[in-house]
Amino acid sequence: MIQKNEISEKKHYKVSFDRVGCIGAAACVAVAPKFWQIVSDGKADLAGAKKLKNNEVQELELDEQDLQVMKEAAEACPVTVIHIEDKKTGKKII
Ligand code: SF4
Repeated sequence: MIQKNEISEKKHYKVSFDRVGCIGAAACVAVAPKFWQIVSDGKADLAGAKKLKNNEVQELELDEQDLQVMKEAAEACPVTVIHIEDKKTGKKII
């Protein structure tokens, strides 16, 4: 029980990637190659993410330790299609 809480509480943040709007500029890849890569259709893929709406949206839960690098990737994206939300408060971080 305690362990289960510890695991779920570690993933504080949710990344939502509006893949449909991605122009393949690859700024995210340059900043955070651990999470982002350009795939065969010329758009980015978010590693380990759930693919929703025919892959027009991808979602990933994130640890505190990866927040900063993901934030930098989101800030670098020229079309602002990477969003991060605090799961507990529902507050939009970017
Ligand atoms: S920086 Fe934005 S537009 Fe460029 S590949 Fe990444 S998500 Fe797509």
